[in-house]
Amino acid sequence: MTSFKAPKGTYDLIPPRSADYLAVREALSAPLRRAGYGYTETPGFEQVELFARGVGESTDIVTKEMYTLTTKGGDELALRPEGTASVLRAALEASLHKSGNLPVKLWYSGSYYRYERPQKGRYRHFSQVGAEAIGAEDPSLDAELVILAHDAYRSLGLRDFRILLNSLGDKECRPVYRAALQEFLRRLDLDEDTRRRVEINPLRVLDDKRESVQRQLTDVPMMRDHLCEACKSYHEQVRELLTSAGVSYEDDPRLVRGLDYYTRTTFEFVHDGLGSQSAVGGGGRYDGLSEMIGGPALPSVGWALGVDRTVLALRAEGIELELPAATDVFAVPIGDEARRALFRVVTELRRDGVAADFAYGGKGMKNAMKSADRSGARFALLAGERDLAQGVAQLKDLHSGEQTAVPLDRVVAEVAGKLR
Ligand code: AMP
Repeated sequence: MTSFKAPKGTYDLIPPRSADYLAVREALSAPLRRAGYGYTETPGFEQVELFARGVGESTDIVTKEMYTLTTKGGDELALRPEGTASVLRAALEASLHKSGNLPVKLWYSGSYYRYERPQKGRYRHFSQVGAEAIGAEDPSLDAELVILAHDAYRSLGLRDFRILLNSLGDKECRPVYRAALQEFLRRLDLDEDTRRRVEINPLRVLDDKRESVQRQLTDVPMMRDHLCEACKSYHEQVRELLTSAGVSYEDDPRLVRGLDYYTRTTFEFVHDGLGSQSAVGGGGRYDGLSEMIGGPALPSVGWALGVDRTVLALRAEGIELELPAATDVFAVPIGDEARRALFRVVTELRRDGVAADFAYGGKGMKNAMKSADRSGARFALLAGERDLAQGVAQLKDLHSGEQTAVPLDRVVAEVAGKLR
Protein backbone atom coordinates (compact mmCIF):
# COMPACT_ATOMS: atom_id res chain seq x y z
CA MET A 1 0.00 0.00 0.00
CA THR A 2 1.22 3.51 -0.73
CA SER A 3 1.71 5.99 2.09
CA PHE A 4 0.09 8.69 -0.04
CA LYS A 5 -3.49 9.61 0.78
CA ALA A 6 -6.11 11.70 -1.00
CA PRO A 7 -5.63 15.30 0.25
CA LYS A 8 -7.68 16.46 3.24
CA GLY A 9 -11.28 17.22 2.35
CA THR A 10 -11.21 15.13 -0.83
CA TYR A 11 -12.11 11.55 -1.64
CA ASP A 12 -11.74 9.17 -4.55
CA LEU A 13 -14.56 7.84 -6.65
CA ILE A 14 -13.93 4.16 -7.20
CA PRO A 15 -16.06 1.23 -8.35
CA PRO A 16 -18.63 0.07 -7.55
CA ARG A 17 -19.93 3.30 -5.91
CA SER A 18 -18.50 5.55 -8.61
CA ALA A 19 -21.26 4.25 -10.90
CA ASP A 20 -23.80 6.10 -8.73
CA TYR A 21 -21.98 9.39 -9.32
CA LEU A 22 -21.99 8.94 -13.06
CA ALA A 23 -25.69 8.08 -12.97
CA VAL A 24 -26.45 11.13 -10.82
CA ARG A 25 -24.56 13.46 -13.19
CA GLU A 26 -26.47 11.94 -16.05
CA ALA A 27 -29.84 12.30 -14.30
CA LEU A 28 -29.22 15.89 -13.19
CA SER A 29 -28.32 16.97 -16.71
CA ALA A 30 -30.89 14.95 -18.68
CA PRO A 31 -33.76 17.44 -18.17
CA LEU A 32 -31.47 20.30 -19.31
CA ARG A 33 -30.58 18.53 -22.51
CA ARG A 34 -34.28 18.09 -23.22
CA ALA A 35 -34.86 21.81 -22.67
CA GLY A 36 -32.39 23.26 -25.16
CA TYR A 37 -29.33 23.73 -22.95
CA GLY A 38 -26.01 23.16 -24.76
CA TYR A 39 -23.01 21.50 -23.13
CA THR A 40 -20.21 23.83 -22.08
CA GLU A 41 -16.80 23.14 -20.62
CA THR A 42 -14.44 25.78 -19.29
CA PRO A 43 -10.93 25.50 -17.78
CA GLY A 44 -10.49 24.32 -14.19
CA PHE A 45 -8.79 27.63 -13.39
CA GLU A 46 -9.38 31.26 -14.28
CA GLN A 47 -7.90 34.65 -13.45
CA VAL A 48 -8.41 35.37 -9.76
CA GLU A 49 -9.93 38.70 -10.72
CA LEU A 50 -12.86 37.02 -12.52
CA PHE A 51 -14.05 35.46 -9.27
CA ALA A 52 -13.15 38.48 -7.14
CA ARG A 53 -15.41 40.63 -9.32
CA GLY A 54 -17.92 38.00 -10.32
CA VAL A 55 -18.50 36.23 -7.00
CA GLY A 56 -17.84 39.24 -4.79
CA GLU A 57 -14.86 40.60 -2.87
CA SER A 58 -16.67 40.28 0.43
CA THR A 59 -17.85 36.69 0.11
CA ASP A 60 -16.36 33.80 2.08
CA ILE A 61 -15.63 32.07 -1.21
CA VAL A 62 -13.32 34.86 -2.37
CA THR A 63 -11.82 35.96 0.94
CA LYS A 64 -11.20 32.56 2.52
CA GLU A 65 -11.91 29.65 0.22
CA MET A 66 -10.10 30.10 -3.08
CA TYR A 67 -7.10 28.04 -4.09
CA THR A 68 -4.92 30.64 -5.75
CA LEU A 69 -1.57 30.35 -7.46
CA THR A 70 0.90 32.54 -9.30
CA THR A 71 2.23 31.00 -12.49
CA LYS A 72 5.86 31.18 -13.56
CA GLY A 73 4.69 33.81 -16.03
CA GLY A 74 3.26 35.90 -13.19
CA ASP A 75 -0.47 35.26 -13.83
CA GLU A 76 -2.67 35.18 -10.75
CA LEU A 77 -4.99 32.20 -11.16
CA ALA A 78 -7.55 30.45 -8.98
CA LEU A 79 -8.98 26.96 -9.18
CA ARG A 80 -12.63 27.57 -9.97
CA PRO A 81 -14.75 27.75 -6.79
CA GLU A 82 -18.02 27.85 -8.77
CA GLY A 83 -19.27 27.73 -12.34
CA THR A 84 -21.37 30.75 -13.17
CA ALA A 85 -18.64 33.39 -13.56
CA SER A 86 -16.58 31.08 -15.82
CA VAL A 87 -19.52 30.08 -18.00
CA LEU A 88 -20.64 33.67 -18.42
CA ARG A 89 -17.04 34.68 -19.21
CA ALA A 90 -16.91 31.94 -21.87
CA ALA A 91 -20.25 33.01 -23.39
CA LEU A 92 -19.12 36.65 -23.57
CA GLU A 93 -15.72 35.71 -24.99
CA ALA A 94 -17.40 33.68 -27.76
CA SER A 95 -19.97 36.48 -28.31
CA LEU A 96 -22.79 33.95 -27.95
CA HIS A 97 -25.00 36.78 -26.73
CA LYS A 98 -24.63 38.48 -30.14
CA SER A 99 -26.15 35.54 -32.00
CA GLY A 100 -29.53 37.26 -31.87
CA ASN A 101 -30.87 34.17 -30.19
CA LEU A 102 -31.39 34.99 -26.52
CA PRO A 103 -31.43 33.49 -24.01
CA VAL A 104 -28.24 31.53 -24.53
CA LYS A 105 -28.86 28.31 -22.58
CA LEU A 106 -25.81 26.40 -21.36
CA TRP A 107 -25.17 23.49 -19.02
CA TYR A 108 -21.99 22.17 -17.50
CA SER A 109 -20.65 19.51 -15.19
CA GLY A 110 -17.36 19.42 -13.38
CA SER A 111 -15.13 19.73 -10.34
CA TYR A 112 -15.00 22.79 -8.09
CA TYR A 113 -12.56 23.68 -5.35
CA ARG A 114 -13.07 25.51 -2.08
CA TYR A 115 -10.77 25.61 0.89
CA GLU A 116 -13.49 24.79 3.40
CA ARG A 117 -13.53 23.12 6.78
CA PRO A 118 -14.21 19.54 5.67
CA GLN A 119 -17.14 17.62 7.11
CA LYS A 120 -19.76 15.24 5.81
CA GLY A 121 -21.23 16.81 2.67
CA ARG A 122 -18.66 19.61 2.62
CA TYR A 123 -15.49 18.91 0.69
CA ARG A 124 -12.58 20.83 -0.75
CA HIS A 125 -13.09 19.20 -4.11
CA PHE A 126 -16.67 18.58 -5.12
CA SER A 127 -18.75 18.17 -8.20
CA GLN A 128 -21.63 20.17 -9.62
CA VAL A 129 -23.98 20.05 -12.56
CA GLY A 130 -24.99 23.58 -13.50
CA ALA A 131 -27.19 25.50 -15.90
CA GLU A 132 -27.23 29.12 -17.01
CA ALA A 133 -29.80 30.93 -19.16
CA ILE A 134 -28.12 34.13 -20.29
CA GLY A 135 -29.65 37.30 -21.68
CA ALA A 136 -33.37 37.22 -20.94
CA GLU A 137 -35.58 38.61 -18.24
CA ASP A 138 -38.63 36.40 -18.19
CA PRO A 139 -40.30 34.78 -15.17
CA SER A 140 -40.87 31.61 -17.22
CA LEU A 141 -37.12 31.18 -17.49
CA ASP A 142 -36.68 31.35 -13.70
CA ALA A 143 -39.57 28.90 -13.34
CA GLU A 144 -38.13 26.61 -16.05
CA LEU A 145 -34.88 26.20 -14.16
CA VAL A 146 -36.56 25.45 -10.83
CA ILE A 147 -38.83 22.92 -12.55
CA LEU A 148 -35.90 21.24 -14.35
CA ALA A 149 -33.97 20.81 -11.09
CA HIS A 150 -37.10 19.54 -9.36
CA ASP A 151 -37.73 17.03 -12.15
CA ALA A 152 -34.09 15.92 -12.09
CA TYR A 153 -34.24 15.12 -8.37
CA ARG A 154 -37.57 13.39 -8.82
CA SER A 155 -36.23 11.27 -11.69
CA LEU A 156 -33.70 9.87 -9.22
CA GLY A 157 -36.54 8.92 -6.88
CA LEU A 158 -35.81 11.64 -4.28
CA ARG A 159 -38.78 12.80 -2.22
CA ASP A 160 -37.52 14.40 0.99
CA PHE A 161 -36.37 17.66 -0.50
CA ARG A 162 -37.92 21.10 -0.26
CA ILE A 163 -37.60 24.15 -2.44
CA LEU A 164 -37.02 27.46 -0.66
CA LEU A 165 -37.87 30.54 -2.69
CA ASN A 166 -37.23 34.24 -2.21
CA SER A 167 -36.74 37.45 -4.15
CA LEU A 168 -33.73 39.64 -3.45
CA GLY A 169 -35.05 42.66 -5.34
CA ASP A 170 -33.25 44.57 -8.05
CA LYS A 171 -31.10 47.68 -8.39
CA GLU A 172 -34.13 49.86 -7.62
CA CYS A 173 -35.36 48.35 -4.36
CA ARG A 174 -32.39 46.40 -3.06
CA PRO A 175 -30.28 49.46 -2.06
CA VAL A 176 -33.22 50.93 -0.11
CA TYR A 177 -33.69 47.65 1.71
CA ARG A 178 -29.96 47.27 2.27
CA ALA A 179 -29.85 50.65 4.02
CA ALA A 180 -32.84 49.78 6.23
CA LEU A 181 -31.26 46.44 7.08
CA GLN A 182 -27.93 48.05 7.95
CA GLU A 183 -29.62 50.56 10.19
CA PHE A 184 -31.31 47.71 12.07
CA LEU A 185 -28.18 45.54 12.28
CA ARG A 186 -25.96 48.37 13.55
CA ARG A 187 -28.07 48.52 16.71
CA LEU A 188 -27.45 44.84 17.58
CA ASP A 189 -24.88 43.28 19.84
CA LEU A 190 -22.54 41.63 17.31
CA ASP A 191 -18.90 40.57 17.26
CA GLU A 192 -16.37 42.50 15.24
CA ASP A 193 -16.38 40.18 12.22
CA THR A 194 -20.14 40.37 11.94
CA ARG A 195 -20.09 44.16 12.33
CA ARG A 196 -17.74 44.31 9.40
CA ARG A 197 -20.11 42.10 7.44
CA VAL A 198 -22.95 44.50 8.23
CA GLU A 199 -21.03 47.22 6.40
CA ILE A 200 -19.90 45.13 3.42
CA ASN A 201 -22.59 42.53 2.85
CA PRO A 202 -25.46 42.93 5.34
CA LEU A 203 -27.73 40.37 3.66
CA ARG A 204 -25.29 37.65 4.63
CA VAL A 205 -25.95 38.36 8.31
CA LEU A 206 -29.47 36.98 7.81
CA ASP A 207 -27.83 33.71 6.91
CA ASP A 208 -25.77 33.54 10.12
CA LYS A 209 -26.63 30.22 11.73
CA ARG A 210 -25.55 31.17 15.29
CA GLU A 211 -28.30 31.27 17.89
CA SER A 212 -26.77 34.43 19.44
CA VAL A 213 -27.32 36.22 16.13
CA GLN A 214 -30.63 34.65 15.12
CA ARG A 215 -32.14 35.58 18.51
CA GLN A 216 -31.63 39.25 17.71
CA LEU A 217 -33.17 39.00 14.25
CA THR A 218 -36.83 38.44 15.18
CA ASP A 219 -37.90 41.91 14.00
CA VAL A 220 -35.38 42.29 11.20
CA PRO A 221 -36.72 44.11 8.11
CA MET A 222 -37.45 41.71 5.25
CA MET A 223 -36.71 42.21 1.57
CA ARG A 224 -40.21 41.05 0.70
CA ASP A 225 -41.67 44.13 2.42
CA HIS A 226 -39.37 46.38 0.38
CA LEU A 227 -39.79 44.90 -3.11
CA CYS A 228 -40.64 47.48 -5.79
CA GLU A 229 -43.77 46.91 -7.90
CA ALA A 230 -41.79 45.43 -10.82
CA CYS A 231 -40.01 42.91 -8.56
CA LYS A 232 -43.22 42.04 -6.74
CA SER A 233 -45.04 41.31 -9.97
CA TYR A 234 -42.08 39.35 -11.39
CA HIS A 235 -41.88 37.20 -8.28
CA GLU A 236 -45.61 36.59 -8.27
CA GLN A 237 -45.42 35.30 -11.85
CA VAL A 238 -42.59 32.91 -10.98
CA ARG A 239 -44.62 31.58 -8.07
CA GLU A 240 -47.71 31.07 -10.22
CA LEU A 241 -45.77 29.24 -12.92
CA LEU A 242 -44.26 26.88 -10.34
CA THR A 243 -47.62 26.19 -8.78
CA SER A 244 -49.26 25.46 -12.12
CA ALA A 245 -46.40 23.04 -12.93
CA GLY A 246 -47.23 21.15 -9.73
CA VAL A 247 -43.97 22.16 -8.07
CA SER A 248 -44.44 23.08 -4.45
CA TYR A 249 -42.09 25.48 -2.71
CA GLU A 250 -41.81 27.35 0.54
CA ASP A 251 -41.48 31.12 0.67
CA ASP A 252 -38.38 31.80 2.71
CA PRO A 253 -38.01 35.56 3.21
CA ARG A 254 -34.61 35.04 4.86
CA LEU A 255 -33.07 33.06 2.05
CA VAL A 256 -29.97 34.81 0.81
CA ARG A 257 -27.07 33.07 -0.87
CA GLY A 258 -23.33 33.04 -0.41
CA LEU A 259 -22.62 34.80 -3.67
CA ASP A 260 -23.00 38.53 -4.21
CA TYR A 261 -24.37 38.56 -7.68
CA TYR A 262 -27.94 37.39 -7.10
CA THR A 263 -30.94 39.63 -7.85
CA ARG A 264 -34.66 38.88 -7.77
CA THR A 265 -35.43 35.15 -7.83
CA THR A 266 -33.31 33.12 -5.43
CA PHE A 267 -33.89 29.50 -4.54
CA GLU A 268 -32.35 26.60 -2.75
CA PHE A 269 -33.09 22.89 -2.74
CA VAL A 270 -32.63 21.43 0.73
CA HIS A 271 -32.77 17.79 1.68
CA ASP A 272 -34.03 16.85 5.11
CA GLY A 273 -31.86 13.76 5.53
CA LEU A 274 -28.48 15.47 5.34
CA GLY A 275 -27.97 17.21 8.68
CA SER A 276 -26.23 20.58 8.65
CA GLN A 277 -25.05 20.47 5.01
CA SER A 278 -28.59 20.22 3.74
CA ALA A 279 -28.42 22.31 0.54
CA VAL A 280 -28.31 19.95 -2.43
CA GLY A 281 -28.55 22.74 -4.96
CA GLY A 282 -29.31 26.36 -5.44
CA GLY A 283 -29.35 29.29 -7.76
CA GLY A 284 -31.17 32.35 -8.90
CA ARG A 285 -31.17 35.40 -11.11
CA TYR A 286 -28.03 37.44 -11.55
CA ASP A 287 -28.94 40.41 -13.68
CA GLY A 288 -25.85 42.45 -12.84
CA LEU A 289 -23.08 39.88 -13.19
CA SER A 290 -22.28 40.40 -16.86
CA GLU A 291 -21.63 44.10 -16.30
CA MET A 292 -19.55 43.32 -13.22
CA ILE A 293 -17.14 41.29 -15.36
CA GLY A 294 -16.99 43.85 -18.14
CA GLY A 295 -19.81 42.64 -20.42
CA PRO A 296 -23.02 44.29 -21.58
CA ALA A 297 -26.23 44.19 -19.52
CA LEU A 298 -27.41 40.57 -19.77
CA PRO A 299 -30.07 39.57 -17.29
CA SER A 300 -29.55 35.88 -16.55
CA VAL A 301 -30.60 33.07 -14.27
CA GLY A 302 -28.99 29.77 -13.34
CA TRP A 303 -28.38 27.05 -10.80
CA ALA A 304 -25.80 24.58 -9.62
CA LEU A 305 -26.67 21.22 -8.11
CA GLY A 306 -24.19 19.36 -5.92
CA VAL A 307 -23.48 15.84 -7.19
CA ASP A 308 -21.81 14.69 -3.94
CA ARG A 309 -24.72 15.77 -1.77
CA THR A 310 -27.27 14.35 -4.19
CA VAL A 311 -25.57 10.97 -3.80
CA LEU A 312 -25.70 11.40 0.01
CA ALA A 313 -29.40 12.28 -0.28
CA LEU A 314 -30.04 9.07 -2.22
CA ARG A 315 -28.35 7.09 0.57
CA ALA A 316 -30.31 8.98 3.22
CA GLU A 317 -33.54 7.93 1.49
CA GLY A 318 -32.29 4.37 0.97
CA ILE A 319 -32.60 4.66 -2.81
CA GLU A 320 -30.62 2.14 -4.86
CA LEU A 321 -30.30 3.34 -8.45
CA GLU A 322 -31.09 0.79 -11.10
CA LEU A 323 -27.89 0.84 -13.09
CA PRO A 324 -27.25 -1.07 -16.30
CA ALA A 325 -25.11 -4.17 -15.66
CA ALA A 326 -21.39 -3.48 -15.89
CA THR A 327 -20.94 -6.90 -17.49
CA ASP A 328 -23.51 -8.99 -19.34
CA VAL A 329 -21.28 -11.85 -20.40
CA PHE A 330 -18.15 -13.19 -18.70
CA ALA A 331 -16.03 -15.54 -20.80
CA VAL A 332 -14.25 -18.48 -19.15
CA PRO A 333 -11.89 -20.33 -21.52
CA ILE A 334 -10.33 -23.65 -20.60
CA GLY A 335 -7.05 -24.08 -22.46
CA ASP A 336 -5.11 -21.95 -24.93
CA GLU A 337 -7.18 -22.67 -27.98
CA ALA A 338 -10.38 -21.76 -26.17
CA ARG A 339 -8.68 -18.60 -24.93
CA ARG A 340 -8.11 -17.45 -28.49
CA ALA A 341 -11.59 -18.44 -29.64
CA LEU A 342 -13.46 -16.81 -26.73
CA PHE A 343 -11.34 -13.67 -26.87
CA ARG A 344 -12.56 -13.27 -30.46
CA VAL A 345 -16.17 -13.77 -29.35
CA VAL A 346 -15.78 -11.24 -26.52
CA THR A 347 -14.46 -8.65 -28.97
CA GLU A 348 -17.44 -9.29 -31.26
CA LEU A 349 -19.89 -9.03 -28.37
CA ARG A 350 -18.44 -5.68 -27.34
CA ARG A 351 -18.54 -4.39 -30.89
CA ASP A 352 -22.19 -5.38 -30.95
CA GLY A 353 -22.89 -3.31 -27.83
CA VAL A 354 -22.93 -6.15 -25.28
CA ALA A 355 -20.89 -5.56 -22.09
CA ALA A 356 -18.46 -8.47 -22.02
CA ASP A 357 -15.43 -9.39 -19.94
CA PHE A 358 -12.89 -12.18 -19.93
CA ALA A 359 -11.04 -14.34 -17.39
CA TYR A 360 -7.56 -12.88 -17.84
CA GLY A 361 -4.35 -14.06 -16.26
CA GLY A 362 -4.70 -17.79 -16.95
CA LYS A 363 -7.01 -18.42 -14.00
CA GLY A 364 -8.18 -21.95 -13.27
CA MET A 365 -11.83 -22.79 -13.93
CA LYS A 366 -12.89 -22.38 -10.30
CA ASN A 367 -11.34 -18.94 -9.87
CA ALA A 368 -12.59 -17.85 -13.26
CA MET A 369 -16.18 -18.78 -12.31
CA LYS A 370 -15.78 -16.80 -9.09
CA SER A 371 -14.75 -13.77 -11.16
CA ALA A 372 -17.78 -14.33 -13.37
CA ASP A 373 -20.04 -14.29 -10.30
CA ARG A 374 -18.35 -11.20 -8.88
CA SER A 375 -18.70 -9.34 -12.16
CA GLY A 376 -22.48 -9.51 -11.78
CA ALA A 377 -22.73 -10.91 -15.32
CA ARG A 378 -25.95 -12.53 -16.40
CA PHE A 379 -24.15 -15.15 -18.55
CA ALA A 380 -20.92 -17.08 -18.38
CA LEU A 381 -19.53 -18.24 -21.69
CA LEU A 382 -17.45 -21.41 -21.25
CA ALA A 383 -15.43 -23.41 -23.73
CA GLY A 384 -12.92 -26.26 -23.51
CA GLU A 385 -11.28 -28.54 -26.07
CA ARG A 386 -14.32 -30.76 -26.49
CA ASP A 387 -16.58 -27.74 -27.15
CA LEU A 388 -14.17 -26.32 -29.70
CA ALA A 389 -13.99 -29.65 -31.50
CA GLN A 390 -17.76 -29.29 -31.99
CA GLY A 391 -17.49 -25.56 -32.85
CA VAL A 392 -19.60 -24.50 -29.83
CA ALA A 393 -19.33 -22.71 -26.50
CA GLN A 394 -21.52 -23.26 -23.43
CA LEU A 395 -23.72 -20.30 -22.57
CA LYS A 396 -24.64 -20.54 -18.91
CA ASP A 397 -27.39 -18.36 -17.46
CA LEU A 398 -25.98 -17.49 -14.03
CA HIS A 399 -29.43 -16.64 -12.66
CA SER A 400 -31.20 -19.88 -13.59
CA GLY A 401 -28.17 -22.17 -13.92
CA GLU A 402 -29.47 -23.30 -17.33
CA GLN A 403 -26.72 -24.11 -19.83
CA THR A 404 -26.94 -24.45 -23.61
CA ALA A 405 -24.41 -25.22 -26.33
CA VAL A 406 -24.28 -22.41 -28.88
CA PRO A 407 -22.30 -22.47 -32.16
CA LEU A 408 -19.41 -20.01 -31.82
CA ASP A 409 -20.60 -17.92 -34.74
CA ARG A 410 -24.10 -17.69 -33.21
CA VAL A 411 -23.09 -16.49 -29.74
CA VAL A 412 -23.53 -12.79 -30.47
CA ALA A 413 -27.02 -13.22 -31.93
CA GLU A 414 -28.06 -15.64 -29.17
CA VAL A 415 -26.86 -13.36 -26.34
CA ALA A 416 -28.37 -10.26 -27.94
CA GLY A 417 -31.70 -12.11 -28.25
CA LYS A 418 -31.66 -13.28 -24.64
CA LEU A 419 -30.69 -9.87 -23.26
CA ARG A 420 -33.53 -8.25 -25.15
P1 AMP B 1 -23.16 27.11 -4.35
O1 AMP B 1 -22.27 27.25 -5.57
O2 AMP B 1 -22.46 27.44 -3.08
O3 AMP B 1 -24.49 27.76 -4.53
O4 AMP B 1 -23.44 25.56 -4.24
C1 AMP B 1 -24.33 24.85 -5.04
C2 AMP B 1 -24.39 23.43 -4.54
O5 AMP B 1 -23.10 22.84 -4.64
C3 AMP B 1 -24.74 23.32 -3.06
O6 AMP B 1 -26.12 23.30 -2.89
C4 AMP B 1 -24.09 22.00 -2.69
O7 AMP B 1 -24.93 20.92 -3.03
C5 AMP B 1 -22.88 21.96 -3.56
N1 AMP B 1 -21.69 22.39 -2.79
C6 AMP B 1 -21.24 23.65 -2.58
N2 AMP B 1 -20.12 23.64 -1.84
C7 AMP B 1 -19.83 22.34 -1.58
C8 AMP B 1 -18.79 21.66 -0.87
N3 AMP B 1 -17.79 22.31 -0.28
N4 AMP B 1 -18.83 20.29 -0.79
C9 AMP B 1 -19.82 19.60 -1.40
N5 AMP B 1 -20.82 20.19 -2.09
C10 AMP B 1 -20.83 21.54 -2.19
